[in-house]
Amino acid sequence: MIEIQCVKCKAFIARYKGSGELDLLFLDTVIKPTTLSELKSLSKKDLPLLICRECGCKLGKPTTNKIGRLGYKMIKGSFRKKGIIKAMTPSPHTSWR
Ligand SMILES: [Zn+2]
Repeated sequence: MIEIQCVKCKAFIARYKGSGELDLLFLDTVIKPTTLSELKSLSKKDLPLLICRECGCKLGKPTTNKIGRLGYKMIKGSFRKKGIIKAMTPSPHTSWR
């Protein structure tokens, strides 16, 4: 899981399932916030830009991949990624992915 935050004001932007495809954020992998994951029912042309709620900074542009999955192409330098590391030590609780 990855968490991204605004690079300017450090506001939480989204948490999503992913491993490191840094500049693509697919809406169907978003866990939080639901206001973002709910956008997946829109069509690409109705999708707003991804903007930081706190400072209004632009973070991503609507995009789809080849098979029509909706998401955002993240703007480099506008956000910071925090990988939520599964386990530093061996743990049986790694079933979430
Ligand atoms: Zn911000």
